[in-house]
Amino acid sequence: MIYPIIPYGEPVLRQKAATLELGTDLKTLIEDMFATMDVASGVGLAAPQIGKSLQLFVVDVSYFVEDGKAQPDKYRKVYINPIVEMSHPHTIVYHEEGCLSIPGIFAEVPRSKSIRIKFFDQNWEPREEELVDMPARVIQHEYDHLLGKLHIDYLPADKRLLLEPQLEDIKQGRIQVDYAIQYNNNNN
Ligand code: ZN
Repeated sequence: MIYPIIPYGEPVLRQKAATLELGTDLKTLIEDMFATMDVASGVGLAAPQIGKSLQLFVVDVSYFVEDGKAQPDKYRKVYINPIVEMSHPHTIVYHEEGCLSIPGIFAEVPRSKSIRIKFFDQNWEPREEELVDMPARVIQHEYDHLLGKLHIDYLPADKRLLLEPQLEDIKQGRIQVDYAIQYNNNNN
């Protein structure tokens, strides 16, 4: 099924997501998350964005790597119970980010250029990866969702203030997007 996206203002986006019990059957949920991400033309989707406060996200970073589209399995990936560490020494890079839960608002976000991530894959195999540049950025954005953090949180106070009217519009449903949005989500 395709889930509606939970928008800015809903409490689930500010919660720390729950750790999943080892071996939990996530097959259907993962398929649905990929389908939901694709319909919304996202490059990543975290479980809280469909109202599930769980330590799980999916990404498709094939857009950002050369020849990525030719190897979809390599770049469409599932991260369960992840732990992200910044690589040392770490370099901070700024780049514009969007978020399916905050449509129309783009923010220059400082991120570590490279990261190390430990996680379980969809088969509950423990894995570890080193990522750089855009794949590292996408992962950091999705990982933040599991901590209740959003890209706008990185903006300086004056810029954030300027966005308040737009953020209020999102909260109140005064937005137009070409994917389904769900308010008053109680499905935790
Ligand atoms: Zn997001």
